[in-house]
Order: sequence, then C-alpha cells, then structure tokens
Amino acid sequence: MTTIDLVSYEDALASYDPVMGLEVHVELGTRTKMFCGCSTELGAEPNSQTCPTCLGLPGSLPVVNAIGVESAVKIGLALHCEIAEWCRFARKNYFYPDMPKNFQTSQYDEPIAFNGYLDVQLEDGEIFRVEIERAHMEEDTGKSLHVGGATGRIHGASHSLLDYNRAGIPLIEIVTKPIEGAGERAPEVAKAYVAELRELIKALGVSEARMEQGQMRCDVNLSLRPNGTEKFGTRSETKNVNSLRSVERAARFEIQRHAAVLSSGGTIVQETRHFHEEDGSTTAGRIKDNAEDYRYFPEPDLVPVAPSREWVEELRKGLPELPRVRRNRLREEWGVSEHDMQSILNAGAVDLIVATIDAGADAASARKWWMGELARRANEAGTDLAALEITPEQVARVCALVAEGSLNDKLARQVIEGVLAGEGDPDAVVAGRGLAVVSDEGALGTAVDEAIAANAGIADKIRSGKVAAAGALVGAVMKATRGQADAARVRELILEKLGVEG
Ligand SMILES: [Zn+2]
Repeated sequence: MTTIDLVSYEDALASYDPVMGLEVHVELGTRTKMFCGCSTELGAEPNSQTCPTCLGLPGSLPVVNAIGVESAVKIGLALHCEIAEWCRFARKNYFYPDMPKNFQTSQYDEPIAFNGYLDVQLEDGEIFRVEIERAHMEEDTGKSLHVGGATGRIHGASHSLLDYNRAGIPLIEIVTKPIEGAGERAPEVAKAYVAELRELIKALGVSEARMEQGQMRCDVNLSLRPNGTEKFGTRSETKNVNSLRSVERAARFEIQRHAAVLSSGGTIVQETRHFHEEDGSTTAGRIKDNAEDYRYFPEPDLVPVAPSREWVEELRKGLPELPRVRRNRLREEWGVSEHDMQSILNAGAVDLIVATIDAGADAASARKWWMGELARRANEAGTDLAALEITPEQVARVCALVAEGSLNDKLARQVIEGVLAGEGDPDAVVAGRGLAVVSDEGALGTAVDEAIAANAGIADKIRSGKVAAAGALVGAVMKATRGQADAARVRELILEKLGVEG
C-alpha cells in the first residue's frame, strides 16, 4: 500500500472549499422482504430465508411490501420532502455474485420522495440546513464471505461463500444535494447529519438504525474546489462508512488527501474508496466514471406506486415530534445544559429518562441514576444502558424509596445491584437483603449514645465547638447500623445530644 503525504487540515482549508454529498442507506425493520414474503430476521442459517423471487429464479414474480412503502413515505415526510403522486420501480442492471437477479430493483428518475431538508444542530448549537435531493426505495444484496485469505477480502481467498438471506431486504436510500458552505466544519456537518438522520429514523419507528450492525451506512462523496470558485471538483465516494465517528474521519481524511493531490498538480480520480477503521484512512476501490451505464428501465413486473393524498396526509398527522425539537423541549423541561444534554444523548439515555419520569420519578433523580450508577454499570459490563436488566419503572421505584427516606443513596445502589442480579423488583431486593434506612429514632438514638460513649475524646472536641469532628461519630454510627441509617439525621442527633448548634 502506498502511503500518501497528506496536507495538514488547516492548509487544505486555506486553499480549498469542500463540497460533500451524503448517501445513506437504511435497512427498514419490516418483518418480511421488500418484494417477497421471506423473513428478515437476523442470525438465521445462511440461505434459509430465500424463495424463488429473492433468488431471481425464472418465472417468479415480486409483490411490493406495503409497510416498506409506508416507511418510505414517513421518512420522506419527516425530511420535509414532496411525495410523488405516482412513481415506479426500476431495474438497475449489473452483475455481482451477491445479487442473484443480476439487477437490483430500485428507483431511478421517479423517487417516492424528493426535495426536502434536514436541519442539524452542530456542537456549538448552530443550525445547519442539509438539503435532501431524494429518498427512494430499493432492496439490499446478499452477502459474500471470502474464505482462506488473511484479511477476509477476496484477494488471497481460496473460495467464497454466498448468503442470500439479506438479498431483498428493504432499503431506503437518502441522498443529499451537494452540501456547500460548511467549510472547515464539513466533517462535523457530515457527522451531525448522519446522527440526526439516525435519531429521526428511530423516532419514526421504521428501523432501529444500528450502524454497527449495518442497518444504516453512509457513502461520503467529497470534492474540493479552489476557494472562491464555483465549479465542483472531481469527487471520490468513500463507501459504507458505518459509524458516526468514521463519517467524520472519512470526510476529514479525504479533504486532506484531495488537497495533497491537487496542490502537487495531480488530478483526482473519480473512484470509490474503502475506509479503514484502524487509522482513519481511505484506499482506492474501483474507478467510476459518469459513463457507467446500468441500463435502468421501469420494472415491468411491479405496478406503479401511487400514494393517495389522503393517505399521505394521514401519515403526516401521525408523525412523531422531530428529534431535535423534542431534545430542545426536554432540555428545557429538565433544566440541563446543551453539554449535559449531549452526554445524555450520547449515552442513549433520553428515552430511558423520559420513561422513568413517566413512571413517577422527578427529572433530576431519573437523570442522576441513569447517568451515574447505571451508566457506570453499563460501562463496566461493556453494554448499552438500554440492555441493562432494569426497567425505567424499577428505577422510578428506587427514586421513590429514596424520596420517602426508606433508602439512602448507598442502599439504593445496593438495591440496583440486586435488581441487576435478578433478585426481583426493588421492593423484593429491599426485603430480601434487609435493606432499609434505620428510621426508628429509638434504635438510632441508642446507636448514637454508644458511639459517643466509645469516642469520648471526639465528643469533647465537638462540645468545645469543633463541629467538623462530628464526621467521625457519624461514620461510627453508620458502621454500627451497617450503612442503613440516614447520615444527615445521624449528624443532627449527635449535635443535638452534645448540645451543639449545627
Ligand atoms: Zn424471498
């Protein structure tokens, strides 16, 4: 592999203006494939979820998945697109072993949704509008597995295996118009756009949009033009980038690489590029010129799609609150900073906190437990917050027990530990482990008296005005009650008994 001398990012931006185009593929979460009844369930035996239609056998006929069309319309509406009154599928003809039909059923010049936009919020709060060219329906290909080589690539492999379970899974491809004017923030805009789109897709309930599972992937098209000029430069297409961080890194790398080539008098080749997670670089894929001809023609085996205006309006009315609007509303309701809200979002805690509040907790407590103790435990277990074996209702119950004084924070953490360990609901853990704040004033009073008697020297210090020394006695009482006392109340009692003002 030849290494490229990159131009520094600052130098690249001093001479050139980046123009981006982002193409995002989203796998819909429908139960069946786009044009047949085969299951879309992940993890099945290879080639167990296929039929004559998705294998492209002669004489088989496709039928459009209604939920697939509905999802496409919802995505289009949420992206402020116009929805076609009438559109068709088209055959995109090319040969690839993982595509058994030898054509992909897609949409060409008649996409179901077009001319929209998505406003994305950058880290400093600024809003950047990304214009949407189109969103169209198509199907996924199968999957090749190259065996025998060191890298999993076809080079050096002894043979290849093909799994067609994924062939025919519904995809929506969302294509932006050229993104201009982002300047040095182009990589940040790319990342923010994909992040916002992912939130939107999840909010619509049309896909879980898990990038790490390939349910959402982004092609980053990038070109540079000399500052102050209008004409676009030649672009490269970095394919299938599958994390937010990688989208940002790929855009950044390509800016530096293009600048290096251009400033040394070279020309950019129009080609696809592979992104490498390990070092954030890209390497050349296949040359792609504009003359590439897929011989598109309207799919003769499928009826046109003509969504009625009534239905479209009905779907529009049913759209959820847009993620950005919802985030800003929640941020105000919870009284947290932009920065804290971003942390909550990054932790995947927004919906969990909302559900905990819905179950009766106050916002501050719900946030505290999810972003504190539970985030720590998720981190330790190397899992997502949502995957922890505790429900928002259970967290709300812990909050309630703390609020009513039955638990202090230390005991609450033990209750959470018990719930996570499968010991049942919070109340069951409290009963099972005998966890409850000692609120019996008599028992607490005795424990305080004993601590004072056993630590006469410290008690004298406190009597003489060294109130700070009370900490040691509080510690002794907490120890005697195995941490089950309310520390603030213990302190009050100690000062009271020693006749000192807190
Ligand atoms: Zn099938």
